[in-house]
Formats: sequence, C-alpha cells, structure tokens
Amino acid sequence: MEGEYQILDGEEMRALGESFAGALQPPEVVYLEGDLGAGKTTFVQGVVNALGSKAAVVSPTYTLVEEYFTAAGYVHHLDLYRIQTPDEVDGLALRDRCGDDSILLIEWPERGIGALPSPSWEVSMGYHDSGRTVCITRR
Ligand code: ADP
Ligand code: MG
Repeated sequence: MEGEYQILDGEEMRALGESFAGALQPPEVVYLEGDLGAGKTTFVQGVVNALGSKAAVVSPTYTLVEEYFTAAGYVHHLDLYRIQTPDEVDGLALRDRCGDDSILLIEWPERGIGALPSPSWEVSMGYHDSGRTVCITRR
C-alpha cells in the first residue's frame, strides 16, 4: 500500500481509504497530514466504511475525537486542528484508546507532537492541479 497516488476527486479519495483499510493490522496509528480540505476526512470515511461501519464520518473538529465501532474493533478518529498546545491531548484518554486491537486515525498530528503515540503509517496529502497527491509511508 506504500506509494504515491494521484487522486482526482473526493470519490477516488474515499476509494483510496477503502483500499488502505485492507492493509491495516491493528494496532495501528495513522498520521493524516495535509492542509484544510486536502481530503483527510474523506479518506477516513473510506477506511471506516471499508471496515464495516455505515456511519457518516465528519471531522471531530470540536469534540477532538470520535469513535466508530467496526468489524475490526473501534476506530478512533482524532482531529487536533483546534488544540492550542499538545497538553490538550492528555484529556483524550489516548492510553485507553491504544489497545492491541485499536486503530487511531489522527488529523493534524503535528499539533499534538510529544503527546501522541508514534505512527505506524503516515499519509500525507497535497494539492496538485485540481486534484491531490497522496503519499502513503509505513513507519
Ligand atoms: P480535510 O479533512 O483534509 O480538511 P475533507 O476530506 O473534509 O478535507 O474535504 C475535502 C473536500 O475536497 C471534500 O469536499 C472533497 O469532496 C473535495 N475534493 C475535491 N477534490 C478532491 C480530491 N482530489 N481528493 C479529495 N477530496 C477532494
Ligand atoms: Mg478533516
């Protein structure tokens, strides 16, 4: 699953998330990097759906974390865009969310540096013409 992908629209981004879900072997910690609107949440929607949850995924911008119950166990989706300091991550009970069967998908991980578990995957997204370039790296 590692590599660089050219993604034309949101539908393709969701499909990439679905394929990526097939590569996950819990426990996993996935850092999702890229500017606002790059497609991080769309990618997470694909992952969550592919793992068997029909939930509509929206960025937990205000709640910071949302969890989805899937066939692969709980998926914890974090969005740290609004935190001011990494200390705020302490309130999210991350230790409890890092079990052997857990999957963490973290948007804006750079805002939580030092307070987050290290990643097992890094997915970085950049704007490219009207689409996106996505790099998936195993860490
Ligand atoms: P983020 O979570 O990174 O802020 P979102 O996934 O919430 O971004 O939003 C991305 C938006 O951009 C969606 O509305 C999606 O349909 C749209 N979009 C347009 N082109 C693309 C593309 N190539 N890849 C991903 N999303 C795209
Ligand atoms: Mg988002």
